[in-house]
Amino acid sequence: MKELKESKDGKEKKIKKSSKTPLLLRGFLDVLPENDKYWRKFRDVTEKILDDYSYGKISVPILEQTNLFKRTIGEHTDIVSKEMFTFEDRGGDSVTMRPEITAGIARSYVTHGMLNRSRPVKLYSSGPVFRYDRPQAGRFRQFNQLSIEVFGDESPVADAEVIFISYLICKKLGLDVIIQINSLGNTESRQEYITILKEYFRSKRRLLCDDCKARLTKNTLRLLDCKEEQCRELAKAAPQLVDHLDEESKDHFVSVLEHLDESEVPYELNPHIVRGLDYYNRTAFEIVPATKEGEESERSPSQNAIGGGGRYDELIEIIGGRETPAIGMAFGIERVVQLLKEQQKNQPSKKNLDVFLAQLGEEATKHSFTLFETLRESGIKVRANFSKDGLKQQLEIADRLGAVFTVILGQKELLDGTIIIRDMENGIQEVVDSAKISDELKKRLKKGK
Ligand code: AMP
Repeated sequence: MKELKESKDGKEKKIKKSSKTPLLLRGFLDVLPENDKYWRKFRDVTEKILDDYSYGKISVPILEQTNLFKRTIGEHTDIVSKEMFTFEDRGGDSVTMRPEITAGIARSYVTHGMLNRSRPVKLYSSGPVFRYDRPQAGRFRQFNQLSIEVFGDESPVADAEVIFISYLICKKLGLDVIIQINSLGNTESRQEYITILKEYFRSKRRLLCDDCKARLTKNTLRLLDCKEEQCRELAKAAPQLVDHLDEESKDHFVSVLEHLDESEVPYELNPHIVRGLDYYNRTAFEIVPATKEGEESERSPSQNAIGGGGRYDELIEIIGGRETPAIGMAFGIERVVQLLKEQQKNQPSKKNLDVFLAQLGEEATKHSFTLFETLRESGIKVRANFSKDGLKQQLEIADRLGAVFTVILGQKELLDGTIIIRDMENGIQEVVDSAKISDELKKRLKKGK
């Protein structure tokens, strides 16, 4: 068995491991059952909101032609030049595990002639994406995104709607976040600005990190969101894109901000938000956890963002479709889940199970499936461990699960047609008629609420 390990120069090398157990790949995660509740909460909240705002759910393949990503995300971006999982399939074609979902949705939009549907076409999709980045806190090689897209709407209202909905999702999840927003202008104004930026950084070239030296010619805008301290300092003093925006982009930006003001979405102007994909123009934004006054975030902004997006008016044309203005965003679900977990840690635990069913003896165990089903069918949240027999053991499990009541079914009760209800808070036990067990429990559960 070989394990992937990082050598001193940062490159992966294979080392021999004597163990026969296959290992989890670096930067890949297993989601264990105890964490599923966070994923489910995210899915339930987002699907409800997106359905209510008329977004249609779409699923697109994980594997696409490599060209799709090269053309849309951009040849010189970090993602395409360094991070894609690309390989030849058995037919000799170059294919890539998607590094993001937007390009696939845009391809599907063209493939299925959605250009002819009434505008705007509002879509969402979620699932795994793959980037061969350096794994670290909040940065994985396989992670999940929820992508939200609006095609065929050029008005600033569409930008504001996508940002508003993204904020609404965070609010509904109880997350305290802030939107960092910038405008990248149109292609011409951005090109002019890039020339100015190049001049600025060229004079400071020797102070830049190696990555930024390479970015200087091919991916100049990314110099603004480099994580290295020395580059961040230089970026702070760099000329700002907002000062070089074309008039239309300026008006568009002001209008987006006015909509956000009206809908009370908290935002901050951040001239360093440029996003790592080439296809953005005009609005670009990221969602980051709000920091309290005087508090410094532990992670750099790029590791911190739980989502981000922007306008991409040229993307559909790049892949051969008709001119279609569009705006979208993506949440990084692992990062949202991490925040939800941290939030739960700070909250007092509350009872989250109505009833635990404990059975004693062989005969009672035989009846316990039917009793469990009677309780479950009547809407009571019930759990059991059918293979355990001892009362002490089962009460311990009930306690651990936070059950309000334990229902105890033993040999004697079975003969009498009764069942014991034990209040887990004070240990008081009552014997009730087994035919009325659901009603008896519901009565008590309601009283306790
Ligand atoms: P992007 O597609 O780069 O705009 O990323 C959108 C969101 O995905 C980010 O705001 C992060 O929350 C998340 N994300 C990006 N890269 C990673 C990664 N390597 N690991 C985990 N989450 C990520």
